[in-house]
Amino acid sequence: QPAVILVIGMAGSGKTTFLQRLNAHLHSKKQPPYILNLDPAVRNVPYGANIDIRDTVDYREVMKQYNLGPNGGILTSLNLFTTKFDQVLGLVNKRAASVDHILLDTPGQIEIFTWSASGSIITDALASQYPTMIAYIIDTPRTRSPATFMSNMLYACSILYKTKLPMVLVFNKCDVEMPEDEEGRGGFEKVKEWMSDWESFQAALREDEETLGGTGGTGGSGYMNSLINSMSLMLEEFYRHLDVVGVSAVTGQGFNDFLEAVQNKVEEYNKEYKPELEALM
Ligand code: GDP
Ligand code: MG
Repeated sequence: QPAVILVIGMAGSGKTTFLQRLNAHLHSKKQPPYILNLDPAVRNVPYGANIDIRDTVDYREVMKQYNLGPNGGILTSLNLFTTKFDQVLGLVNKRAASVDHILLDTPGQIEIFTWSASGSIITDALASQYPTMIAYIIDTPRTRSPATFMSNMLYACSILYKTKLPMVLVFNKCDVEMPEDEEGRGGFEKVKEWMSDWESFQAALREDEETLGGTGGTGGSGYMNSLINSMSLMLEEFYRHLDVVGVSAVTGQGFNDFLEAVQNKVEEYNKEYKPELEALM
């Protein structure tokens, strides 16, 4: 059975580029994937999509017809596409025996997929048939500030609790030079330290606070301190459930690690998600 990988992340985190690189990587291993593009607004799809939402709906036409802005147009296009998802699944099922990976690209604006009925319908339909996981893509250079890092982790956490699916955190853009600490830890090494050692994360928050002159309000007040302490407990639990990899969609570094994490998540799906699903049926 193929693994289904839902590629999710903030706009500009590199979802589409990640898929392009993953596609090339899998081709070089003679394991070509089956790819679905669910972003109706993308101009150029840099991989060969087997199923492309843009073949079914024209998002500019939808915007015009329903008098919508860009986000409304994307959401409505996804809804229209989802009404035909049983046909899409039929096509996927036909090819499922001959591929190892089914990959899905999602719209630039993260909430259009994660917090819409259509996103849930698509996610649940796939997860009820195949070992399904989320690859949560993170723009590493832009998440090097502790406050941004925390909000990004909380977002990932909320998606994990909403879908209950296995998740791989993918720290992308590791090719970009990032400021290093005294021990020479740059981007990915630094955030990995934050995830394994809460004290170091708190120290970073405090430092940030000092350099911002206290305007950020992240570490100073008693209320914020206690909130951050409680969050630390929750996030520690959250991190325990995850596989974490550092990659560059541009250079291709880290993609073998990613595929290893995918393997772990298939096992996790079979051990934890599937029995619950079967109990419901
Ligand atoms: P999406 O909105 O999440 O699909 O993001 P895109 O794949 O369109 O990428 C957004 C921008 O980030 C583009 O300019 C990409 O070239 C750039 N980008 C994506 N991945 C990487 C990476 O690994 N390294 C670098 N340096 N840039 C990247
Ligand atoms: Mg994209």
